[in-house]
Amino acid sequence: MLATATPGAAMNLLELPPISAPLPWQGEAWNRLQEQLESGQLPHALLLAGPADIGKARLALALARLLLCHAPVAGHNCGTCPGCRYSQSGSHGDFRWLQPEGKSKVIKIEQIRDAVAFAFRTASFGRRKVLVLAPAEAMTTNAANALLKCLEEPAGDTHIILACERLQGVPATVRSRCQLLKLPLPPTTQCLPWLDHLTGTREASADLLHLAAGMPLRAERLYRESGSDSLQARHAGLQALAAGEPAVARVVSLFSQLDLALALEEIALFLQQHLRQQRAATLPDCRDHFHLLDRLQRLRGAVAAGSNPNPQLVLESALMGLRDCFGKPQGNATMATRTGGIQT
Ligand SMILES: [Zn+2]
Repeated sequence: MLATATPGAAMNLLELPPISAPLPWQGEAWNRLQEQLESGQLPHALLLAGPADIGKARLALALARLLLCHAPVAGHNCGTCPGCRYSQSGSHGDFRWLQPEGKSKVIKIEQIRDAVAFAFRTASFGRRKVLVLAPAEAMTTNAANALLKCLEEPAGDTHIILACERLQGVPATVRSRCQLLKLPLPPTTQCLPWLDHLTGTREASADLLHLAAGMPLRAERLYRESGSDSLQARHAGLQALAAGEPAVARVVSLFSQLDLALALEEIALFLQQHLRQQRAATLPDCRDHFHLLDRLQRLRGAVAAGSNPNPQLVLESALMGLRDCFGKPQGNATMATRTGGIQT
């Protein structure tokens, strides 16, 4: 199995538990997949589509391990058969998981060529083979074209599972050859009990889920990366700036304890939440916020691509921009030009 350590939400396939179950809010989708599997109608190519951080890759993993299990128990992989033991250790010869490798943001044609060769080989166990691609929109055009061969003429009992956040980011030629399974943002009522195991209290879970814009895996990541208290303090700092607090330095000091990429993500998330609420209230002018959001995305991209700006300057610039755009109801998005060496 190709198991690579990649940044962001990449799946770590070297530390799996014996059993990979779907997440609590994926029951409906899971039941449908199981019914298809039991009736022999599971499509050879499946495309899981839905918002970020809701667990699409985890569902793909649960299905992949179920398909590779020799003796499933209660609708899940058994955790003890040879298939499960190999998939747990990341060494199953009939399993490939493709995701961007290293610092790359794309799935390259070389990876797909290897996967196509895999798909046309005989299964090691003489059973099924499973190929997962996540995120599918990370495929380059050439990579997507190379994958078509697999999708058009599926070899033997090979299952291809793709996961994507933006359907339009997946070429139509690929989409049209897959059965689409849409996964919506899960209801709060199903996310909160799951988060309670992490935070210990319902109140903390509710705050955390709110800060993560309803995306449960993002809430989990935020919590694990910085803990609930400091997350709350930063959020309160952003709210104070949005309410007109002039002292940016205090909020900068809160964010400077975070990795810069995470800090920028959190500030962008705060803006996105605001914009969502504004849309709901049909308030007219959010141009400044959109401009700032664009600049934050560019900064995040530059940091992810290996730029090494001065974090203090970047944070000052971003947070001054945030304070200013909330303070100015019309046009004139301002964001200080000092961004620690990154042109925005
Ligand atoms: Zn098993």
